[in-house]
Amino acid sequence: MPLPSPESTIRNREFTGVAVLGATGSIGESAMEVARHLGNRISVKGLSAHSQLDRLVELAREFRPDWIVATDIETANKFRWPDLPGTELLIGSQGLQQGVVGDGIDTVLAAIVGIAGLQSTLAALGAGKNVALANKETLVAAGPIVMAAARNSGASIIPIDSEHNAIFQCIQAGQAGYLSKVILTASGGPFRNWTIEQMENALPEQALNHPNWDMGRKISIDSATMMNKALEIIEARWLFDLVAGQIEVVVHPQSVVHSMVEFADGSVLAQLSPPDMRLPIQYALLYPERIPGPANRMNFSKALSLEFSPPDHSRFPALKLGLRVAEQGGTAGAVFNAANEVAVEAFLKQEIGFNDIVRAVGEVVAQHPFQSSPDLDQIVAIDQWAREETNKWILD
Ligand code: NDP
Ligand code: MG
Repeated sequence: MPLPSPESTIRNREFTGVAVLGATGSIGESAMEVARHLGNRISVKGLSAHSQLDRLVELAREFRPDWIVATDIETANKFRWPDLPGTELLIGSQGLQQGVVGDGIDTVLAAIVGIAGLQSTLAALGAGKNVALANKETLVAAGPIVMAAARNSGASIIPIDSEHNAIFQCIQAGQAGYLSKVILTASGGPFRNWTIEQMENALPEQALNHPNWDMGRKISIDSATMMNKALEIIEARWLFDLVAGQIEVVVHPQSVVHSMVEFADGSVLAQLSPPDMRLPIQYALLYPERIPGPANRMNFSKALSLEFSPPDHSRFPALKLGLRVAEQGGTAGAVFNAANEVAVEAFLKQEIGFNDIVRAVGEVVAQHPFQSSPDLDQIVAIDQWAREETNKWILD
């Protein structure tokens, strides 16, 4: 299991230099809260945003990073940039790739949504920067390439996704060599108790209304379809070097047990905390250190019930699809991810129904010209192919 050992991770210095990519998003803003709370322990060296440039400027004024990147070139060119002394302005994905490799950056927090986060994560890993990874789509689309980039440079990838962060923590508590399986918990999302017929007519605002987490729009829709859990199955497969048969999903509506691991003797270890992304973000930034931070804590002075039940595969076909894609590997993950990104956008624009998201993705994955060991160019090409195929599916 290619997990970084605490000793191999550079942490015994006064502060950790961090670049936050996707700083204006839900994970990005939570990361800024962690940085604010930890004061000098974290030094924000770089920030990126796509469309919310006013907010980027506010964050730059507060944290005074060495550079900021505005990734959407058109919006960046129209924007009236104020003077930001000491902060260099970079533009576009080129700017991102230039920023992440800069001096003074120990860890790149990858919180861009979708495949748009792939190249900057690869650039960071290639330069030996540790990556605190929220952007699961990167691993889903190009898991073997991303993991190899980390291995080759000796950089570590610490997952922020709460399930994978929990699994990472549980493995640290046991012996990785004796791991038999991982159990991903799933809240079940806003439609946990809905029928297929009800979901057929679900509206974007209903699907965006997650019971436990306040997240970006794309991952909120992914949670409602349970495509998020399917993406997480594939993410876990690459991150922890598992086979699909070692990954189980259990529905746990309270989102307190973030995931579990089972060892060969049958012992199961779990990680618990209230649903608050600031904890996995802090853990990933400071690993292996644990210091008081801003995240909410468990309160056992009040009664607390935790429920677990098996998922309903007939209402949530995304899960089996995710397991199949994890088993297939190769180009399947890139197609799965790209088709899902396009289908989620189409659902949000009310061009397709809710259940069509998983239907479309399943059909595009089934039809795709499979390659077992694609390189990065082939991943980029198949991603493009899958987007076009999904758009055709939507128009049909
Ligand atoms: P948001 O939509 O809230 O934020 C996305 C961020 O990425 C914003 O800063 C946005 O900039 C930027 N962005 C959007 N499109 C592009 C692009 N094409 N190029 C560069 N930057 C872009 O998403 P979340 O914070 O919810 O999620 C981020 C990632 O973390 C996703 O991969 C998600 O799956 C993962 N994740 C999120 C969790 C959560 O609790 N939110 C939990 C676990 C994982 P701007 O806003 O300026 O346009
Ligand atoms: Mg998650």
